[in-house]
Amino acid sequence: MFSGIEQGPPIEVFALNKQCLEDSCPDKVNLGVGAYRTNEGKPWVLPVVRKTEISIAQNESINHEYLPVCGADAFTKAAATLLLGEKSPALAENRAFGVQSLSGTGALRLGAEFLAQKLSRRVFYFSEPTWENHFKVFTGAGFTTAKTYRYWDPSSRGIDFAGLLEDLSQAPENAVIILHACAHNPTGCDPSQEQWKQIADLMEKKKLFPFFDSAYQGFASGDPNKDAWAVRYFVERGFELFCAQSFAKNFGLYCERVGNLTIVQKDASTTAAVHSQFTLLVRAMYSNPPAFGSRIVSTVLNDPKLREEWMDCIKTMSSRIITMRQKLYDLLKKLNTPGTWEHITQQIGMFSYTGLNEAQVKRLISDFHIYLLSTGRINMCGLNEKNVEYVAKAIHAVVTN
Ligand code: PMP
Repeated sequence: MFSGIEQGPPIEVFALNKQCLEDSCPDKVNLGVGAYRTNEGKPWVLPVVRKTEISIAQNESINHEYLPVCGADAFTKAAATLLLGEKSPALAENRAFGVQSLSGTGALRLGAEFLAQKLSRRVFYFSEPTWENHFKVFTGAGFTTAKTYRYWDPSSRGIDFAGLLEDLSQAPENAVIILHACAHNPTGCDPSQEQWKQIADLMEKKKLFPFFDSAYQGFASGDPNKDAWAVRYFVERGFELFCAQSFAKNFGLYCERVGNLTIVQKDASTTAAVHSQFTLLVRAMYSNPPAFGSRIVSTVLNDPKLREEWMDCIKTMSSRIITMRQKLYDLLKKLNTPGTWEHITQQIGMFSYTGLNEAQVKRLISDFHIYLLSTGRINMCGLNEKNVEYVAKAIHAVVTN
């Protein structure tokens, strides 16, 4: 029965991670997989998360009964409020609500399933380049027409904004447009507020549906309100939209799979029906979500003191990344590495799209044991005080000869 099954292609980021783990070179550097590392190169359990998980484990009144199908209320409300803001009219008017999901990927998938199954949407657009899983998630959910909009301009190492507008202006009515809420993966380049306004104007005129992907709220700038600006702006403008939220990066809860799909509608009269359909979708796929990670997030977000501690943690993470951007830039400048490198300090979030080509990436891996994606994307968190000079010198070597 299984003899006709073809071997599937490896998933680059995980294959690269495995290759790096198996490399015995003491100088190796992992700039591939998108996970935070401390200045000592170690994974980081946020102290407020550690403290909260211990208190949950010791709380005798907490049991392991099933959660409601669409998740715990305390969590989905806290998540949607983090995204839309404490004073959000959409939340106050019951036009917006959350559905707990299996991290950001699960939120994207749930939203895509709903759009394909309940609204027969088939066309989606994603930025070129984008996080490589968008294509798989949407086609897996039943979307049949995948289109791209221009995003990265290699010559300016920034956004090809004219190209983006031109491509979106060709999109058919009702097309679903995936937009990165902040800290665009992989380029690290976000539209300015003025550019977001122009994107909103165009999408309103062409009747396109915004599906935001928010995987880095707070982690990008250190300020969750600032990182939610684009989503809140679209909501203020009166758009109906979806936003997938991940708590993998900003809480460091990667493996706990904590996410939320926030749904914003024009009118509260559709809330009950839409919610009921999400209930049926979740029921058919995995019945109900896991509790532990979402308990950590809701406990922290709903307690002013713990929330303050969390804010300190996200500042620690985002500022370490900014310091590393500056260090790498300064070193490349000092070495007189040919090319412009300002984009390294201008880009935001976890990743930098270095502009290194595939051949240069191959050499970094084979000659220097520095692991990064073939597109030249590096995870800034993989850099630290001990390895940044080694990495800068290696980049210099592959760029110059
Ligand atoms: N979207 C983007 C753009 C991402 O970078 C990520 C994380 N790599 C995700 C969604 C979802 O990740 P997770 O499912 O781990 O929350």
